[in-house]
Amino acid sequence: KRKNASEPEFLQAATEVLTSLEPVINAEPKYQENGILERITEPERQIIFRVPWVDDKGKVQVNRGFRVQFNSAIGPYKGGLRLHPSVNLGVIKFLGFEQIFKNSLTGLPIGGGKGGSDFDPKGKSDREVMAFCQSFMTELFRHIGADTDVPAGDIGTGAREIGYMFGQYKRLRNSFEGVLTGKGLNYGGSLTRTEATGYGLLYFTNALLKKNGHSLEGKTVAISGAGNVAIYAAEKAYQLGAKPVTMSDSTGWVYDPEGIDLAAIKEIKEVKRQRLTEYKNYRQGSEYHEGKGVWSVKCDVALPCATQNELEADDAKQLIANGCIAVAEGANMPTTLEATEALQQAGVLFAPGKAANAGGVATSALEMSQNSQRLSWTFEEVDAKLKDIMENIFANADAAAEKYGHPKNYVVGANIAGFVKVADAMIAQGVV
Ligand code: NDP
Repeated sequence: KRKNASEPEFLQAATEVLTSLEPVINAEPKYQENGILERITEPERQIIFRVPWVDDKGKVQVNRGFRVQFNSAIGPYKGGLRLHPSVNLGVIKFLGFEQIFKNSLTGLPIGGGKGGSDFDPKGKSDREVMAFCQSFMTELFRHIGADTDVPAGDIGTGAREIGYMFGQYKRLRNSFEGVLTGKGLNYGGSLTRTEATGYGLLYFTNALLKKNGHSLEGKTVAISGAGNVAIYAAEKAYQLGAKPVTMSDSTGWVYDPEGIDLAAIKEIKEVKRQRLTEYKNYRQGSEYHEGKGVWSVKCDVALPCATQNELEADDAKQLIANGCIAVAEGANMPTTLEATEALQQAGVLFAPGKAANAGGVATSALEMSQNSQRLSWTFEEVDAKLKDIMENIFANADAAAEKYGHPKNYVVGANIAGFVKVADAMIAQGVV
């Protein structure tokens, strides 16, 4: 705590993980004997760098770039690049730390890392975004590679940004390789990657509900966020017979009792890059509210898909009072520790992000496999693998929770299931 006092998000994530690992640490002395907890909480490498670029007015701008290479025990570092003004080292460290366990849970050979910058792509021209991405990659390229570290998208980093970064990497290295995932389909991207996190979240939620005697059929779903994860969570919710009724962005939220009009949301967010205030122009019967409020709507299932700490203790109370039966995290750590405890104590099924949103990185790893093979699999092939992976993650988390005496506690189950594989690999590789 002393060493990381200025990094509250990292401390929060580490506290949650370390607390939930207690049953396995007590049962298996080898983890303490090998200093696993001390080593796993310290990144293998942290890179912080200057990102200078010139804006459309000819003015020099400087942002700060980060890449935290947290753990490579089971594969090359893998994790997204976040572009958002709130980015700092503590945020990137928390995300990188979570990523270790998430990547392990997928069952695929990928280590944990994360990166990004305090650059805000909102309101920037394409040329400005390109100038930033090229400058960012001009430093990052020397630290990454298809067998070393393979970054991906995250908040603020979509197909456009990945494209600019890939182009610059290729120019600097003179090598066409699978160094980034989330690439465009005509230059090495994987079908289903765009949909993967949202779809995977729903495959996981479906497995969770089934195991606990429920089903998604006919359920009302509250979703926060209106980005990549939220949009494809809503799409798969419809496909599985549920009805999403809310979406939000950082300025406000919409409630559409008839069910969110996905075509409208896609046009507003993916094509026009506008705010949710526009939604009313498509749907007269909907409501728009400024600020936060998604969790005040009556729902059976809540899917926080925006950002960290967006579902707080009061929100949890409201969800419980409204009879919500399950909360599954599409975003990373959207639920505060207090809110998580309140939900669990009230018997609400709770699926932590590192398990429930692992579909994105799992499909990224499938993109890496396709790049290595120089092949492209069909949408159906990738989607079937994704579904399988998510159902396995649920089964493994469920089994670990049971084995270590905390049945139905999927936070404990996911952390333990993810931890054991990495920790055993670290022991096998010696003190490094
Ligand atoms: P996007 O940038 O596509 O969308 C993020 C959405 O959340 C936007 O609607 C954004 O609104 C909103 N949002 C962001 N920051 C805030 C904030 N501080 N307060 C309120 N709303 C906010 O990102 P993604 O959908 O890709 O990512 C969402 C979450 O899912 C993140 O936690 C990410 O780490 C996690 N995740 C993403 C994966 C992926 O494959 N994309 C994989 C696994 C996890 P606005 O536009 O107004 O900023």
